[in-house]
Amino acid sequence: MILAPLLLAATVSVGHSEGCAQDPTSRHVTTVQRLSESLHLIHRYGGNQVVFTGKEGVLMVGAGFLDGAHEVELSLAKLTSAPLRYLINTHWHKDHSGANAYWGLAGATVIAHENARLRMLGGDGSEGTKKLFHDPPMDPEGLPTVTFRERLELTFNGEPVLIEHHPLGHTDGDAVVYFPEQNVVVMGDLYRQDNFPYIELRSGARPAGMLRAVEAVLRRVPADVTVVPGHGKVGTRADLREFYDMLWDANEQVKRAVARGQDLIALYNNKLLGEYEDRWAGGGQRNRVRGFLQIMWYCYAPKSARGLGEKRDPATKPQF
Ligand SMILES: [Zn+2]
Repeated sequence: MILAPLLLAATVSVGHSEGCAQDPTSRHVTTVQRLSESLHLIHRYGGNQVVFTGKEGVLMVGAGFLDGAHEVELSLAKLTSAPLRYLINTHWHKDHSGANAYWGLAGATVIAHENARLRMLGGDGSEGTKKLFHDPPMDPEGLPTVTFRERLELTFNGEPVLIEHHPLGHTDGDAVVYFPEQNVVVMGDLYRQDNFPYIELRSGARPAGMLRAVEAVLRRVPADVTVVPGHGKVGTRADLREFYDMLWDANEQVKRAVARGQDLIALYNNKLLGEYEDRWAGGGQRNRVRGFLQIMWYCYAPKSARGLGEKRDPATKPQF
């Protein structure tokens, strides 16, 4: 694979997308974890990246930040000398797509949901659009040339690779990638293992959308599936279920508290969701709890208090 050092000076920003912050001490460490003979997780500062290797070449899910791309490429080169053929973005956030142009110049065909591509094209430069679009716009070499609306199926290295959209969970352009013969599902930021989830309210994403997406995956995957989150450690279906149950309960707790007339400050002061701090807020980092509470509160507070409304609110938790 040809490296493209000039790209390191290109205009792609390496700032992290909001809600996707990582431990800065891990910024310069690249780790490779074997998931199967042909699937590996490469982690560096940024979102998790999964590489599928075989006789036809390499397919990668997640691009990572631009400033880590060369290190990731060196790690990839230790796994295989085959060319990178496809790059699938799970969504537009820069910690998952910042290095798109690097991989595009290396020859990869970039695939993403159609809404994710629109957000990579950039906004109008106004402050209001900077958190909803790549800023600056993504370099053309990194833009997806293959997009999809609901699902896309590839056959690569002799196996199916299923890419499916779930609406309005983390962003408005999320993709879940299934490797059915490997029994692996890659969730993007519809599931993060190391923190409360981020829900991009500005693009229309809502807790209900994230719950629907995770529920759909849980209904579909077997108990022994390997689940790759957008951030954090690889886990099992049971781990994903734990996330779902936490999110469902948090959603209910916030909804009930708002119905009782509590404002955001009251939620903080009452330590709502306090029982989840140790597990989901990095050992009780209150700022993480506050950020999550704020997102959830916005969804249910009256419009006069900056509520954003909720289109579908499942009243009864589904049994499955
Ligand atoms: Zn994200």
